Amino acid sequence: MRTYELLIIGAGPAGLAAACFSNFEKHEVAVLEQKSSPGKKLLIAGTGQCNLTNAIPTKDFLDKYGPNKKFVKNCLYKFKNTDLIEFFESNGLKTTTLPNNKVFPESMNSKDVLNTLLRIMDKKGVDLYCESKVTGIQIIDDGYLVTTQKDSFKTEFLCIASGGKSYPSTGSDGSMYSIIESLGHKINPHAPALTPIITNNFNFTSCAGIGLKKNCNIPL
Ligand SMILES: Cc1cc2nc3c(=O)[nH]c(=O)nc-3n(C[C@H](O)[C@H](O)[C@H](O)COP(=O)(O)OP(=O)(O)OC[C@H]3O[C@@H](n4cnc5c(N)ncnc54)[C@H](O)[C@@H]3O)c2cc1C
Repeated sequence: MRTYELLIIGAGPAGLAAACFSNFEKHEVAVLEQKSSPGKKLLIAGTGQCNLTNAIPTKDFLDKYGPNKKFVKNCLYKFKNTDLIEFFESNGLKTTTLPNNKVFPESMNSKDVLNTLLRIMDKKGVDLYCESKVTGIQIIDDGYLVTTQKDSFKTEFLCIASGGKSYPSTGSDGSMYSIIESLGHKINPHAPALTPIITNNFNFTSCAGIGLKKNCNIPL
């Protein structure tokens, strides 16, 4: 049995960021990841380029959330787009802002984003356990008992950052939902936001990744 002060489940952007920002007295922090390596979804984000944030003022950005604006307002003001850019730049990741206000790593390579997060974690002495699928959580007197397929962990604080269930091959498979429910939490019904369209005999595969402006005239 291994003991930590903080255990984070999931090595996606949320879990890795939680580890990077953790500020615990004993610095005994670990991340558990079910896949063989961290950040699988992060690596495919923005077609492998990773659109980090947007450069428009938070006030204007909030309007894009429609009726959900209230839900994210507090978060977006607590850690603004400018804070995120400053965080990455001060940790050695240069960023670039495109004319459409999208912010990317200057290298246009999501691997550099992942490596920056892993480097910060490493400096803080955070342990990362891959191939460690969480199969159970038990609440105990002084914290939590977390079991994986091959180990068990005791922790004072637990952060669940296991993502959604939209892309199982990246690890977001919803396998934590029933475990979270078993702890007494309610999972709100979820629905896909962005979905791929799968077609047969598609003749334009070579055009994949090209974005066009609304009402743009394409000479045929
Ligand atoms: C094709 C694509 C392109 C995208 N492009 C962008 C973009 O350019 N910019 C942007 O901001 N967002 C983008 N997104 C969205 C972004 O990738 C997600 O919002 C982000 O990855 C969510 O982070 P997360 O850490 O919450 O979850 P995830 O990235 O899903 O990470 C969760 C982690 O938890 C692990 N896990 C799950 N269950 C368990 C378990 N039982 N035990 C142990 N580990 C577990 C998973 O293996 C996974 O590694 C894109 C998404 C897709 C699919």
